[in-house]
Formats: sequence, C-alpha cells, structure tokens
Amino acid sequence: LRGVVAMDGPSGTGKSTVARGLARALGAGYLDTGAMYRVVTLAVLRAGVDPADSAAVLRVAEGVDLGIGTDPGGSAVLLGGEPVDAEIRGPEVTAAVSAVSAVAGVRDLLVSRQRRIIGESRATLGGIVVEGRDIGTVVAPEAPLKVYLTASADARAARRTAQDSAEGRVSTVDATKADVQRRDTFDSTRAVSPLRPAVDAVEVDTTDLGIDAVLAQLLEIVRE
Ligand code: C5P
Repeated sequence: LRGVVAMDGPSGTGKSTVARGLARALGAGYLDTGAMYRVVTLAVLRAGVDPADSAAVLRVAEGVDLGIGTDPGGSAVLLGGEPVDAEIRGPEVTAAVSAVSAVAGVRDLLVSRQRRIIGESRATLGGIVVEGRDIGTVVAPEAPLKVYLTASADARAARRTAQDSAEGRVSTVDATKADVQRRDTFDSTRAVSPLRPAVDAVEVDTTDLGIDAVLAQLLEIVRE
C-alpha cells in the first residue's frame, strides 16, 4: 500500500476489524484514532475533571503522555507508560468520550499527532490504514482511498454487544443500541469535524455483509 486508506463511520460497523485486516493484508500500518480520544478521556476522568468543562479538558489533554502503536497485529495504547487497552473500552470512558472529542483544542492536538504518525508510517512502511470519524474529511483528505462504513442500528448494537461479551464486559443489546445511537447523534451534530462521509468516499453497508466479504471488496479496490 502506498499512502493512506481512510476508514470512517459510526461505531459498530466493523470498522476496527476491517481496518486491521486490511492493514495486515497489505503489510501496512494501522492507526486507531478513536483509541487516542479514549486515552485523553481516561486522563480527564482520572484527573477528576468534568468532561463538559472544555477549558479544563483541554488543559488535561495538553499534558497527556499518550502512547499508541501502529502494528495491526496488536494493540498497544499507553497512558503515562501504562497499558490501558482494556480500561479505555469500559463504560465510563465510552460515556464521556464524545464530550471530550467535541473540544476543538483536543482535536487540534490529536490531529497533528495523527498526521505525524501517518508521516512516519508512510516513510517506513509505505502506507497506513487509519480509522476514525474524520480521517477522510480532516486528518488525511489526500488519501487515495476513503471508505465510509455504515450498518443498521440493530446490527451495530448486536456487534458491539458481542464484542463487549468477548472482552469480558457485561452489556445488553438494548442498552448498547441506545448508547451507540446517542454517541452517533452527538458525533454527527457537533460543531467541529462532525462525522460524515467525505464526498469521494466509497460507502459500504455492512449490515448483511460478513467482515470477510467487506475485506475482500476493499482489497479488490486497493489492488485495482
Ligand atoms: O472508534 P471509537 O468508538 O473508539 O471512538 C470513540 C469516540 O471518539 C467516538 O464516539 C467519537 O466521539 C470520537 N472520535 C472522534 N474522531 C475520531 C475517532 C473517534 O471524534 N477520528
């Protein structure tokens, strides 16, 4: 892969699995930008700061020691050198992450960090698959391939619940559906970098497609 594959869409569309799988198949790097917003959110919560207090949130974000890997085979997310992969997926962080990621200053900080990581990966590996909400529209609008994954709310809730259960968290489909919809409404209506497909994005509805079918479809596009 040469350059960036931008992978955007709401939660529960299979984005992470597809992005990782694509990166692996292409020998490219992989960057989970949602994990970066989650680490900042965890730092905010640990500091006892109200996620709705933008100024205080930004102060925390400016001091965060965040580490993130680009190996599609494993996730390595660090806060102050401590692995926090499990904790950033927990309900407390999930409930607060949309508020934190709506702070313009937080986005500026993380977007420049993301662009730096993309530059490094392109230099060493040639390319990188980057997943998030604003990759095709803001972070890497120059990406030759932009993918926007969608799926019905029911399918997304079912996937999120299965993922929770696989990772040892207890949740119900109803609660997850409500959470997924709340987060998507918030993410798509916020003032800064709202969730939306880039004009030239390839949209793939994953409701009735298995991950393998989505991957095969995207690999074909990349290899064209
Ligand atoms: O992808 P994930 O569900 O981990 O993302 C968590 C939250 O981080 C999203 O709901 C969204 O509010 C925020 N986010 C964002 N921009 C990105 C990635 C994630 O605003 N590029």
